[in-house]
Amino acid sequence: MGGARPAHRGDRVVGRERAPGAAHAPALRARDLLHAGCRAAPATRDALDARGIAIEERPVVEVLSGDDDALRGIRFEDGDELAAQAVFVAPRTVANDEVLVGLGARSMRQGGARRVLIDEEGRTSVRGVYAAGNVTGPRSSVPWTMATGSIAGTSINADLVDEDVTLAVSRRRR
Ligand SMILES: Cc1cc2nc3c(=O)[nH]c(=O)nc-3n(C[C@H](O)[C@H](O)[C@H](O)COP(=O)(O)OP(=O)(O)OC[C@H]3O[C@@H](n4cnc5c(N)ncnc54)[C@H](O)[C@@H]3O)c2cc1C
Repeated sequence: MGGARPAHRGDRVVGRERAPGAAHAPALRARDLLHAGCRAAPATRDALDARGIAIEERPVVEVLSGDDDALRGIRFEDGDELAAQAVFVAPRTVANDEVLVGLGARSMRQGGARRVLIDEEGRTSVRGVYAAGNVTGPRSSVPWTMATGSIAGTSINADLVDEDVTLAVSRRRR
């Protein structure tokens, strides 16, 4: 977020916990890092402490940039500012699954987000409705999306062929 260059080792990087109790992976890899703006769960606190990462629980109200639009730091609720060369945030994942859920596809909550349930062939709980990608897993990625899309596409083709065959057989028997 912000900044005209990627973060370098030794930069002060500001981040926050991604989900309750879970230290964000980059936070555990970076150095000279401040974990800011939220209450750290005990396990997270231990993990960050062990990595020498400072914890700052004051709410962060603004990410500051300079005249050149480059990131320059953050501002806390009480007005204090802190210089930083990089800031990472913890976005909340929301699946765009209204169409599938509206059709009655079963879903469940996982990792703080809803996912539409599919079988190993990409079929949802609604006959003739298939799903792939982000809606099927909150921690999706392009490879996951490609793989599940490929599986769903293959299944659609196979199911349509099966249906044609079933129809042809029943017509022949009439
Ligand atoms: C900031 C960020 C960085 C990421 N970096 C990486 C990375 O480095 N590597 C990686 O592998 N993955 C990365 N990902 C994840 C990756 O982008 C997603 O997992 C992937 O794009 C999911 O593909 P998708 O087709 O399931 O969903 P999307 O790419 O979200 O496509 C869904 C499409 O459906 C459209 N849509 C939704 N609802 C409707 C509707 N009702 N009617 C019509 N259209 C609709 C949306 O507008 C959208 O165009 C990143 C994601 C984010 C947000």
